[in-house]
Amino acid sequence: MNRNKREKEYYSIDVGDSTFMVLKRYQNLRPIGSGAQGIVCSAYDHNLERNVAIKKLSRPFQNQTHAKRAYRELVLMKCVNHKNIIGLLNVFTPQKTLEEFQDVYLVMELMDANLCQVIQMELDHERLSYLLYQMLCGIKHLHAAGIIHRDLKPSNIVVKSDCTLKILDFGLARTAATGLLMTPYVVTRYYRAPEVILGMGYQANVDIWAVGCIMAEMVRHKILFPGRDYIDQWNKVIEQLGTPSQEFLMKLNQSVRTYVENRPRYAGYSFEKLFPDVLFPADSEHNKLKASQARDLLSKMLVIDASKRISVDEALQHPYINVWYDPTEVEAPPPVITDKQLDEREHTVEEWKELIYKEVLDWEERTKNGVIRGQPASIAGHSLLLLSEQPQFNSTQFQKYSNQLVWHQQSCQSHFFSVLMFNVKPQTSAIHLSSLSFVL
Ligand code: AMP
Repeated sequence: MNRNKREKEYYSIDVGDSTFMVLKRYQNLRPIGSGAQGIVCSAYDHNLERNVAIKKLSRPFQNQTHAKRAYRELVLMKCVNHKNIIGLLNVFTPQKTLEEFQDVYLVMELMDANLCQVIQMELDHERLSYLLYQMLCGIKHLHAAGIIHRDLKPSNIVVKSDCTLKILDFGLARTAATGLLMTPYVVTRYYRAPEVILGMGYQANVDIWAVGCIMAEMVRHKILFPGRDYIDQWNKVIEQLGTPSQEFLMKLNQSVRTYVENRPRYAGYSFEKLFPDVLFPADSEHNKLKASQARDLLSKMLVIDASKRISVDEALQHPYINVWYDPTEVEAPPPVITDKQLDEREHTVEEWKELIYKEVLDWEERTKNGVIRGQPASIAGHSLLLLSEQPQFNSTQFQKYSNQLVWHQQSCQSHFFSVLMFNVKPQTSAIHLSSLSFVL
């Protein structure tokens, strides 16, 4: 696109301390939150005729930590498609060349509040269990793609007033360092599991610990294990749950074990004491039953030793949760992650800059005219996935191309786009397919 045309597409607006330079289709920007990466605004999208959230990543390549996180988030958001994980609607940068490249804007579905705000509210069992069910569905979907989050927290989970829930981020990269002996910096760690705090190996149910902490906080309206640092936090864990068994201590590395063994010993409290009836709505027989089920679930999630903690699948089958069980939500096909070395990547700032820039351009290219383009030259016999910005797109609109494509299925349809699958006929070449962009 020529420079002038591109410049005319954008405008600049001050939001809080930051300046957003966004496409003109996005109007009425208002700040709604901020995180480690920058400010998030709500806006009205005139093309999709709906409200959206726009997150500005300012110079995401400025250092290794920011760059790795931004790149990982961008790649994963592009691949994952599940109702309990935030969906990406658009990605853009107002800068025109790699040399000028500064900021990335992620446009997402807009939700009403994050979970920190919900924690203040008195929730009935129906809402509480539904929120937990959706968290578990989102987590299970990430696990199915090989993404173990390890850093779930209320600020990274967003909800709507109709009680729908989405996870906002993808947590810590496999290679991210954590651990008791690391220099503390300002991040929320209250929800991190013992195996993360103590620098042990971990498995998928590391994320169940966070769900347990979040559930406990929704019941108590107070953080379960607040700690100034990991050491203080570990104290809070053992004061309430008790010093873990010798069997658990044997799994720790020598220096951490010495530290843990030298803490005062605590017997801990029963779950009836930790979460007494008064914390739950228990005014009817039904609610009393639900309260005891909720407490039972907490007691199975808040287990220090991961080998004895409930799994995500078991939690989804728990009587407090399984009332919501819907196979299309729980067992949705796993996303395919395109970048296989995502977590292992190490780059210089300049290399990160280029990689992130390429990801942005790739999005722009793929969504140009509503079509995912750039298929390899020999695509005959393969399936082709097309993204249309028209919500009610259907196979009849493709009749014209029936000599090249065989309709396969409508894999997803929402208020704002359709995803369609085709099988490509043997003699078809990429050149023919490029013309498809005009029909969408
Ligand atoms: P983040 O930078 O992703 O950690 O987001 C910071 C905060 O912005 C979150 O805690 C939410 O309060 C808010 N936020 C981010 N994305 C959205 C969204 N899609 N819808 C509503 N609020 C959001």
